[in-house]
Amino acid sequence: MGTTLIKAKTIIAGQELTAKENAALLIDNGKIKELYNDAANLPSNLADEVIDLGDKTLIPGMIDCHNHLALDTRLENHLVKMNDCEAEQTIRAIKTMKDDLVSGVTTSRCLGDRFYVDVTCRQAQKEGRITGPKLVVSGIGMRASHGHGYVGMPHNGPEEFRKTARENIARGVDFLKVFMTKVINATPYIYHFLTPEELNVVVQEARSVGISTACHCSGGQGLDDCVKAGIDCLEHVYYITEKQVETVYNADRWVVYTPSYALNDELLFKFSPQDREGSLREKEIICSCLSKAISGGLKFGIGTDGIHQGLAQEAQYICDLGADNKSVLAGITVNAAKLCSISDKTGSITAGLAADLVALDGNPLEDISALKKVSAVFQDGNTIIR
Ligand SMILES: [Zn+2]
Repeated sequence: MGTTLIKAKTIIAGQELTAKENAALLIDNGKIKELYNDAANLPSNLADEVIDLGDKTLIPGMIDCHNHLALDTRLENHLVKMNDCEAEQTIRAIKTMKDDLVSGVTTSRCLGDRFYVDVTCRQAQKEGRITGPKLVVSGIGMRASHGHGYVGMPHNGPEEFRKTARENIARGVDFLKVFMTKVINATPYIYHFLTPEELNVVVQEARSVGISTACHCSGGQGLDDCVKAGIDCLEHVYYITEKQVETVYNADRWVVYTPSYALNDELLFKFSPQDREGSLREKEIICSCLSKAISGGLKFGIGTDGIHQGLAQEAQYICDLGADNKSVLAGITVNAAKLCSISDKTGSITAGLAADLVALDGNPLEDISALKKVSAVFQDGNTIIR
């Protein structure tokens, strides 16, 4: 692969997401080699190929912090489809990966797929046999036998959790995922399905091999238990209280926001009437909780939870709930990469990192809806769409 120079009106560069005007970057062997401030005055022989993106804004490739490859909310009865056979789920995963990549998602964090579909696809993508985001995977999501988790598998007692944790680790997962609570329609009493002992075992197994843990956790006692057990990342947090915001902040844990499941009415019509009504009723509570988590300064990533091609909309919701544009952009790029422990590889436009890039019509630091106007996608320096 030769060298490529990409020019753009604006490049949002570095860990600080600083907007550089009339800038350019040099790609060598799939990596960002150098950034230039004055694109107009560069020598013409600097690179083998020059791509001039004109008035576009170049941002780091987006990272979906909460995805499921074989869960596709765009389909009818998408939850029932989680019982499909392995081949069917794998075919679906290949399709959703393609769709996500062209929408600008160059990396996806997978929070549980059955049959190790995510582990298989991570390898196939790495070897170039399938096209899609680079994957950060958790393998089999672990839930309690009486608890929530359409994509998780049932477990009872610490030793069953330990067994699957170890099998996940043996398969080479990047982190472990457990399910503590239901999703929406969960108040006034938020059930929690895992015991502290079960949580402790999972954290212990993860730490013993230096990987992290994530928990599907809406709120309630379950959230307190997760923090106490040392879970690194809390997913969803729809019902987090002000006191819990303080606890999570002080414990320096990550949260991942997946706002559509509470805020997107279209999606709610896909759920049972009971869940739909409950959610509509609780929308106000959830918005207030999420807003307080945002103003409380929790470090966060943003995820779609299987709403493929929907990351830009999730980002829009988080802006609407009070986050500033830069932290929202960070939540799908720089900070998302930190959350996934891959910031030495991707997540920002920095020399030495992979040339995972997205060109937009408009600057998301000024108008977050620009994230929906993807005009080009590059992954490891390869042009995916343009
Ligand atoms: Zn999920």
